[in-house]
Amino acid sequence: MAKITQKEYDQVFNKDKGRCHECGTTYGLEYHHVIFKSKHVPNTVDNGVMLCSKDHRGTYGVHGKFGKNLDLKLKLELQNIYKSRDLDFNEIKALMGGRHYSEDEYFD
Ligand SMILES: [Zn+2]
Ligand SMILES: [Zn+2]
Repeated sequence: MAKITQKEYDQVFNKDKGRCHECGTTYGLEYHHVIFKSKHVPNTVDNGVMLCSKDHRGTYGVHGKFGKNLDLKLKLELQNIYKSRDLDFNEIKALMGGRHYSEDEYFD
């Protein structure tokens, strides 16, 4: 995991009200970057979510073997946050790590 400061952790923890972004549990929370930090994406509060260890690293967790849909769901949510602001397509694309995500990418 990319390094985050205590302040960044606390901001995202408070944004998600101390609960897993996916299932709402308050136990075993971990910080997750929706867009991986190495993609030169600014480390904003928007780009962080709290996930429990199951939803983070479990089989169906975002980094897990069957986690592609959760990964996409979190990315589409983030993209929609950016779309709700006064940003143009290319600015959003840059914030999303250089590409645009679509609902069509859900894996079934
Ligand atoms: Zn969870
Ligand atoms: Zn993660």
